[in-house]
Amino acid sequence: MGGPVSQSILVVGGGMSGMTAAIEAAEAGYEVFLVEKNSYLGGRVAQLNQYFPKLCPPYCGLEINFRRIKNNPKIKVFTLATVESIAGQEGEFDVAILQRPRYVNEKCTCCGKCAEATTMEIDNPFNYGMDKIKAAYLPHDMAFPMRYVIDPALVQSPEAQKVKEACPYDAIDLDMQPQKIELKVGAIIWATGWNPYDARKLDTYGFGVYPDVITNVMMERMASWNGPTQGKIIRPSNGEPPKTVAFVQCAGSRDENHLPFCSGVCCLASMKQATYVREQIPDAKIYIFYIDIRAKDRYEDFYNRVKEDENVIFFKGKVAKIEQQEGSDQLVLRVENTMTEELHEIAADLVVLATGMEPTTATEPLPIPVAYDDYQFLPGLVVQPGIYAAGCVRTPTNVAEVVQDGTAAALKAIQSISRR
Ligand SMILES: Cc1cc2nc3c(=O)[nH]c(=O)nc-3n(C[C@H](O)[C@H](O)[C@H](O)COP(=O)(O)OP(=O)(O)OC[C@H]3O[C@@H](n4cnc5c(N)ncnc54)[C@H](O)[C@@H]3O)c2cc1C
Ligand code: SF4
Ligand code: SF4
Repeated sequence: MGGPVSQSILVVGGGMSGMTAAIEAAEAGYEVFLVEKNSYLGGRVAQLNQYFPKLCPPYCGLEINFRRIKNNPKIKVFTLATVESIAGQEGEFDVAILQRPRYVNEKCTCCGKCAEATTMEIDNPFNYGMDKIKAAYLPHDMAFPMRYVIDPALVQSPEAQKVKEACPYDAIDLDMQPQKIELKVGAIIWATGWNPYDARKLDTYGFGVYPDVITNVMMERMASWNGPTQGKIIRPSNGEPPKTVAFVQCAGSRDENHLPFCSGVCCLASMKQATYVREQIPDAKIYIFYIDIRAKDRYEDFYNRVKEDENVIFFKGKVAKIEQQEGSDQLVLRVENTMTEELHEIAADLVVLATGMEPTTATEPLPIPVAYDDYQFLPGLVVQPGIYAAGCVRTPTNVAEVVQDGTAAALKAIQSISRR
């Protein structure tokens, strides 16, 4: 056996699963380092408009977690940070973290003067590139930590000094450098979540070709009050409200050429988004094209409620192709009715591709060799002694389940430290 057992826990990923794991471990008395790649905590949930099935805003739940993190001196948060290397073993891991510069320190009051002082704009990653923001920006209105970020391109530009001088609080530091932070921890929880499957790979669906073909995560942003259209559901091509909206289920999911598994949440996400459309555009006609509907346990009630709406048509059929109709600005979906095998052509103003959840480990594996399942998810709660998985990096699922997962991973990490 090697050196002394560290009583600290590293949590990688500050989404719902990672925040839960960090809070539970810290509230049990352990020192926690929470490492998040983005400039803010909350993960993909921060980008949702409402939660199914209750349709409440996700900020209620997120804010409680932010407060628990803020008030707990045992949790040290590193944003804009990733894990570069892991060495050692259960009880005595040596971890190197790389933290990228924010160029803004804790004196920031979010006055916005730096944004006013720059002309440089960047694609807004929070809104999946649907709009632009200034290169000096608050990641989003409810961001935690509530602090501006300066894009590295702006720091390199001739405007940098002008932007720094515009700050009345001396909060901009253009000389900030990447920091390497070395930590000793007893256990590690990997909670890096998921990425939306890249819809550009679905070449018959016209994503990236037709502006009115969007994805389900983009729909969440479009419906959000702090989204690119301030919550208005429109056709990106002309800014008009759509009269017909088509949701294409299993877009790339349960397909050997893309994601072979079911993500479990995208049927419910489309039903939820159908309620967004109905609320804003009461006479809109909504199609949900599906192979099977996944709405298990208590979500069945939600499915039944949405089904009662006579303007929401559940159509059992696989969408083969989406094209622009000749001489019209509408999109046409070619669909085979799986019950009758008849081919249908259905026109829509806006198409939402219900893409699935790919584990982040498919593109960004852990910096040490560990086992993955056939789809690049971490294989279970216990990855190897001392390393635990939580949330959608382990399996695609909903928020209630990732919260339970985060708690389970915290318990495993605590057991791992205390039994040695
Ligand atoms: C369209 C859609 C709608 C949905 N709506 C709902 C809903 O209404 N209700 C519901 O219960 N669920 C919903 N979900 C599911 C919900 O989004 C997930 O359950 C939730 O995001 C999982 O949280 P997580 O912490 O596991 O992962 P994430 O939310 O992905 O968080 C992971 C965090 O880790 C960070 N990270 C990634 N890589 C690294 C790295 N290398 N180093 C450090 N940090 C990293 C990320 O930046 C992120 O902050 C929806 C899903 C989709 C696709
Ligand atoms: S960095 Fe300075 S100018 Fe920019 S928002 Fe913060 S306090 Fe205001
Ligand atoms: S949840 Fe629904 S849309 Fe998503 S992969 Fe499963 S069956 Fe397809």
